Amino acid sequence: MHIPRKRFGQHFLRDQAIIQRIVTVLAPKSGEHLVEIGPGQGALTIPVLRLVKQLEAVELDRDLIPELQERSVKAGQLNIYSADALEFDFGSIQKDSRRLRLFGNLPYNISTPLIFHLLGFAGIIEDMLFMLQKEVAERLVAIPDSEHYGRLSVMVQYYCKAELLFDVPPQAFHPPPQVQSSILRLVPYQRPPYPADDYVLFEEIVKHAFGQRRKTLRNSLKSIVSDEVWESMPIRSDRRPENLSVKDFVEMANAVAQIKK
Ligand code: SAH
Repeated sequence: MHIPRKRFGQHFLRDQAIIQRIVTVLAPKSGEHLVEIGPGQGALTIPVLRLVKQLEAVELDRDLIPELQERSVKAGQLNIYSADALEFDFGSIQKDSRRLRLFGNLPYNISTPLIFHLLGFAGIIEDMLFMLQKEVAERLVAIPDSEHYGRLSVMVQYYCKAELLFDVPPQAFHPPPQVQSSILRLVPYQRPPYPADDYVLFEEIVKHAFGQRRKTLRNSLKSIVSDEVWESMPIRSDRRPENLSVKDFVEMANAVAQIKK
C-alpha cells in the first residue's frame, strides 16, 4: 500500500463519476500524442490508455512507477518518464509533427511554476487539461476588472485561451485536499494574437504593474517608463493594472520598446 506523500502533492482521484467526466472532456483519440503529468496510481492513466492504447507520462515519485507500469500492461502501452515535470524538456519527446496534448491532476504546490514552465513549450502544445486548485484556476481565466485578475491571468492569456470547465469537491480525492479544485483547459494560440516586440520587457511591465496593484501605472512603472515616454503612450498613466487587457499591456510594452530603439 502506498501512503500518499504530502511533499509530492499526492491527492489521488477516487470518484469514478468525476474521473469519467474528465476523460470525456479530454476526449482522447488514438493517434494523438497524449502526455500525462503526475499519473500517480493511474486514476486517469488507465481509462485514457484503454481508449487510445498509447500514452506517455512524467512522474516524480519513483516508488509509484513499477506498480503503475504493471497495472497498465493490459490497458495499452504506457511510457513513463521518471522525472520532475518542472525541469522536463517536453520538446525532447515530440517525435513528429503531432503537437502534445497534456493533461493531469497536478500537484497543487507546483501548479503555477509548472504552468509557466509549460508556456515555454506553447508552440508544440495542442492543448492542456488540468486539475488545479480552484483559486488558481480562477486567476488563470480571470478577465480585466474582476477580482481574480492579475499577473498570472495576463501571462497565461498572452499564450493561451483559458477556460474553466467544472469544479471538483475535496471528497473526490484520497486524501481530500484542503481546497476546492477545478478542471481547466488551456489552448495555446498558434501565434499570440497580440505579440510583444520585446517579450522580456512585456514580462517586466506586467510584473511591476501588478507588484503594486493599487497604484497607478505611472507610479508602479517609474523604473521602466519615464514621464516623457508616457506622453507618447497609447495607454493613460493614471490607469490601474487590473483595468488593462492583455492587448493593453502588449501595446504599452511595444510603445516602450519602440522608444528604446
Ligand atoms: N493523477 C493521479 C495523481 C494525482 S496526485 C490521480 O489523479 O489520482 C499528483 C501526482 O503528481 C502524484 O503522482 C505525484 O507523485 C506527482 N508529482 C508531484 N510532483 C511532481 C513533479 N514535479 N513532476 C511530476 N510529477 C509530480
